[in-house]
Amino acid sequence: MQTALEHYDPQIYELIRQEQARQSGSIRLIPSENYVSRAVMMATSSCLTNKYAEGYPDKRYYEGQQVTDLIEKLARDRAKKLFGADHANVQPYSGSVANLAAYAALAAPGDTIMGMSLDHGGHLTHGWKVSLTSKFYQSVSYRVNTDTGLLDYDAIRALAKEHRPKIIISGATAYPRLIDFEIFGDIAKEVGAYLVSDIAHIAGLVVAGLHKSPVPYADVVSTTTHKTLRGPRGGMLLCKADHAKQVDKAVFPGLQGGPHMHTLTAIAVAMAEADTTEFVAYAEQILKNAQALANKLLEYGFDLVTGGTDNHLLLIDLRNKDIPGKKLAKALDRARIVSNYNTVPGDPAPPFNPSGLRLGTPAITTRGMKEAEAEQIATFIHRVAENIDNETEIAKIGKEVLLLCSRFPVPEHFIIPPKDGGRD
Ligand SMILES: *Cc1c(COP(=O)(O)O)cnc(C)c1O
Repeated sequence: MQTALEHYDPQIYELIRQEQARQSGSIRLIPSENYVSRAVMMATSSCLTNKYAEGYPDKRYYEGQQVTDLIEKLARDRAKKLFGADHANVQPYSGSVANLAAYAALAAPGDTIMGMSLDHGGHLTHGWKVSLTSKFYQSVSYRVNTDTGLLDYDAIRALAKEHRPKIIISGATAYPRLIDFEIFGDIAKEVGAYLVSDIAHIAGLVVAGLHKSPVPYADVVSTTTHKTLRGPRGGMLLCKADHAKQVDKAVFPGLQGGPHMHTLTAIAVAMAEADTTEFVAYAEQILKNAQALANKLLEYGFDLVTGGTDNHLLLIDLRNKDIPGKKLAKALDRARIVSNYNTVPGDPAPPFNPSGLRLGTPAITTRGMKEAEAEQIATFIHRVAENIDNETEIAKIGKEVLLLCSRFPVPEHFIIPPKDGGRD
């Protein structure tokens, strides 16, 4: 049967088909990526994409909100229950906008914000110099201890006392250890700052109880919905009741117009999926797979920042292997293993060609891979590194990777008839 897309736009249909083949025929180790369920995909491509819903439930600026109000209320209630938060705003278009809205809710332009330096694992929107967050606000950055790779809470406290920021941001995009949100909360209190905790990467681990939640300590918690949480590409803010009004105002009308209702709908679906024992088991397996991957890489002589991982991601410092991060990432991509090159703390190499490689296990775990496969992937990575200039060997490894992939199907999009009858 020919689908509508295939009929009306064969070019785009073909490109989606190719991307689907790429996603299922390669191993996804980018720690911020995942595969959503077919239910989430269906919701994102539903008719809710046709509806304008500026405002909030029961306070909209357009008519015809009989259904959208119910959907947004469901999404909010499910998010509140899942995270144990007083208030949830599910409208932010993505994690970056959610962060900006959190700052706008708590601080005025020109105030000081203090977040983790990008080259030490923070996100662009934590006040990095090329981000507008460093232009709208005075930005101060804390870093990790370059000997251990760990957050140094005493140094963070001292920096906070020196600069007296209005907002402290706790959270990271490339930090392989647990973050102590309670200490961050104490530091914020000591200096009279608000605490914003950005759990974009670890939200799925938090709801599964495998990472301490920042909800009791932070004024506002910001997250994406598409990383370990395994929902559609979007953002979300959680906060205490007394910040609810400012947070809502900051998102709309402060920063955004109409919410992406199809995304909100899919967020509601993803929140229900995350509120299950299956999801907890999934999150536990993410950690087991990360441990297995890390241990095997250590056996092969790879140097891991902080010596290992407590969460879903790891950072390889490639300096002892004498291979630049970008070179290994590109060679791995040719062998169907998709990762990203990354700076390591105190990296002497330039940021566009850094010394590290960042890997994570959320996506392979969604495919059903376990420790044995994680170890097998470590062996593939080792072999690519050993044969970094040998294209014949890299192509051979790619064929073996394809074989592994064929045993672990990914949820396919329903616009393209699945070959295997479909998997949720
Ligand atoms: C991914 C990420 C974001 C930004 O999310 P986008 O959806 O890409 O805008 C913000 N903060 C952290 C810590 C992230 O990892």
